[in-house]
Amino acid sequence: MNNTDLRDLTKTQLTDFLHSLSLPPERAPQIFSQLQRPGLHNIEQLELKKDLRKRLGAHAGLSRLRIKEIEISADGTRKYILRLADGLLIESVLIPGRGRHTLCLSSQAGCAMGCKFCLTAGLGFKRNLRPAEIVGQVLAVMEDMLRNKMRNGRLRELINNLVFMGMGEPLANYDHLLTALHILMDQQGLEFTRRRITVSTCGLTPALQRLPNAVKVNLAISLHAADNDLRNQLMPVNRRYPLDDLLAACRAYPLPRKGVILFAYLMLKGINDQPAAARALAEKLTGIPCRINLLPFNESRELPYKRPGGETINEFRTILQQAGYTTMIRDSRGGDISAACGQLALREAKARA
Ligand code: SF4
Repeated sequence: MNNTDLRDLTKTQLTDFLHSLSLPPERAPQIFSQLQRPGLHNIEQLELKKDLRKRLGAHAGLSRLRIKEIEISADGTRKYILRLADGLLIESVLIPGRGRHTLCLSSQAGCAMGCKFCLTAGLGFKRNLRPAEIVGQVLAVMEDMLRNKMRNGRLRELINNLVFMGMGEPLANYDHLLTALHILMDQQGLEFTRRRITVSTCGLTPALQRLPNAVKVNLAISLHAADNDLRNQLMPVNRRYPLDDLLAACRAYPLPRKGVILFAYLMLKGINDQPAAARALAEKLTGIPCRINLLPFNESRELPYKRPGGETINEFRTILQQAGYTTMIRDSRGGDISAACGQLALREAKARA
């Protein structure tokens, strides 16, 4: 699309854009609100006077993500493979829970972070997603949910939570992420509140420090190791932004009353699953209001890691609980459809190759 994509714009940016075209800027809230509706695919569908639509259409367009494929897991998890305008594929995963639906979003096509346990890392980095492509995932999934009559109620209640835990490192696409968050949180749009959005990072500390000044959202950290040597091996980002600096930034992260930071800890057999590792983790997180999610590794042919046994995982959890941490074991949903990050896109890329 050569013209401006209206879905890339926050309401304020849309107001400025209309102004720059000598179109009535006071129409911005009305147009913005319509842009956040699933099923609206072109400017012709906007409820506006014909001449205004025509003048707008001469300078702007609307992008849309196409669903290439949906894989539905036995547990109801729906994995969407979405095609971007340039043909790249990304994925979003809709996870139903007791009366609540969580949507896991991608922020980049591929990823440059190179985490050793992650299949997306094997794809390499393709490009950052534009705000319209981040918001577009929500709209494409909502459209599918409406088509399949998956939920009743208001549009804003279709999806309860958004988590940025799909392909890519959200904070490496900082500016577009912020714009997308402002669009998603706008009261004249889909109105996701702070409570309902979680941004997860592998540890880009400077961006993490800037984030709360720009937008208030929940924070999750992919930790996976409690010492620098092991984290350096598993997550190359740690060589640039070491663990203690990352945890210092977490300590300074402003939280709402009773708010916590979520730490995700992928459990890899014989690598980071020993009782001593649990004790080191408990020690490292001292003073951070947090919750810990233990994620037993989902084995795959492409990666050398193994999943620890149940007893090992339980022992690890008990040590953390005895140290006072709320700790959950979270088995990844949709295991039968490769819903762990990047698995399907990798398979696709391989098939194409
Ligand atoms: S785990 Fe996340 S940050 Fe690390 S390579 Fe995979 S997608 Fe990127």
